[in-house]
Amino acid sequence: MASQPRLSFEAPTPDDRFLSAILRVSQQVEAVARDVAVLKQHIARQRREIKEAVKRQHVAAIAALGGRCPCCGSREVVGADGRKAEGAEFDHFYAASKPDLEHTWLICRPCHSDLTTGRLARDEREAEFRAYQNRRRRMAPRVAGLL
Ligand SMILES: [Zn+2]
Repeated sequence: MASQPRLSFEAPTPDDRFLSAILRVSQQVEAVARDVAVLKQHIARQRREIKEAVKRQHVAAIAALGGRCPCCGSREVVGADGRKAEGAEFDHFYAASKPDLEHTWLICRPCHSDLTTGRLARDEREAEFRAYQNRRRRMAPRVAGLL
């Protein structure tokens, strides 16, 4: 039997009902995707900037530790004058963590770029971050006196 074009007044077939259900689900997925996008923007806005006092403490700590990038140990991030070197960047080590002294550090631009673009996985520098935080904490009373 040859198939004939279906007329619009015919009752919906199982295929029609299936496609209609798929359409409803896809609209719900769209709505969830929009909600997630709004939430992501909200989280990004809530991620506060690193305060000047925190930045000063990192600069003082790294100066006292020799001025090198705590991530790679090769590039200078604090100059002999005790100031942040050109291009050095303050970094939130953990996504969406507090922008405080314990969750941030000052690193060189190449390290910051590698970490923020994902060329370098954060867990590959976890040991360096921890080592920096431990050294900084041990000397904190001494550095705090300089601020
Ligand atoms: Zn570095």
